[in-house]
Amino acid sequence: MANNSPDEHVRPQSLDQFIGQNDVRSNLKVYLGAALERGQHLDHTLLYGNPGLGKTTMARILAAELGVSIVCTSGPVLERSADLAAILTNLNRLDVLFIDEIHRMPASVEEILYPALEDFKLDLILGQGPGARSVQIDLEPFTLVGATTRIGLLTSPLRDRFGVICRLDFYSPDELATIVSRSARILGMAISRRGALEIGKRSRGTPRIANRLLRRVHDFAVMDRRNEIDARMASAALERMDVDPLGLDQMDRKILECIIRQFAGGPVGIKTVAVACSEEVRTLEDIYEPYLIQCGFLKRTPRGRVATPRAYQHLRIACPGPARLPLDHPEI
Ligand code: ADP
Repeated sequence: MANNSPDEHVRPQSLDQFIGQNDVRSNLKVYLGAALERGQHLDHTLLYGNPGLGKTTMARILAAELGVSIVCTSGPVLERSADLAAILTNLNRLDVLFIDEIHRMPASVEEILYPALEDFKLDLILGQGPGARSVQIDLEPFTLVGATTRIGLLTSPLRDRFGVICRLDFYSPDELATIVSRSARILGMAISRRGALEIGKRSRGTPRIANRLLRRVHDFAVMDRRNEIDARMASAALERMDVDPLGLDQMDRKILECIIRQFAGGPVGIKTVAVACSEEVRTLEDIYEPYLIQCGFLKRTPRGRVATPRAYQHLRIACPGPARLPLDHPEI
């Protein structure tokens, strides 16, 4: 699948170039080594974590390390079982099939995947009505690499068919600084370590955002005729882009302010927040909430979302103290 995203040039090509996620990386190294030693396919692998943390990158690396081709598709694209059948029958021995957003694959498609994953067989029904007959096709052994931002939405029969399940976490500012420095080197940009760290700190723990902010900061550097991006320059450019020192952008602040000002800090249902912020529920849940929760600004409770005292502090809004009971209250 052709991909013209600006990140393509800086995407790591091997496990050694992949920065961070040390536990995941070292375990995968073992599983890859063992699969290569046995000359067999790598067990089906599920990668889960927030958008931009490196799931697609890791899938491509797995194929590269195994020395096989990768075929990429995604759950919502596979509308009919015939779409998946066509892909499966075209795979070569030991190839990697990457299905992004695998939790969004229709149930009918998922069902034909089970025998393919377990026995490398495809059960097809040919024709319709009384004349319909079922045929079984042998497939080449392959590795499915599934990626999802929502492991909880995967059906358990599908989840159980993955032999390897890896969770990708947010990256530390230091790791992101290393990613930024590496990308800058590849793109021919000069940046100091402290400049890279300034971008790393404001990238919401996410390499895709770090690379995007690097490109924008570089635009400012070019227009300001600066040869090198240093910490002061990076910080000034990020301020101008409205990215605050913790990496929150306008939308993050809008969400928190909405919960605090319109709903007295919550609890408030996610659908209500989405309407108030003119954003889709899925975008709020997948893109914004995880980082706000990670920062300790937001809590998910059974009754809805709640802004924490840290959120009030960060936005410099006075936090209402615990309600005082009137002195004649029966509990006193
Ligand atoms: P996902 O599939 O999880 O949404 P991607 O694999 O597309 O994320 O990663 C987004 C971009 O971030 C990639 O193009 C790559 O340049 C960069 N990236 C991701 N993970 C790493 C990493 N561990 N080291 C260096 N760059 C990374």
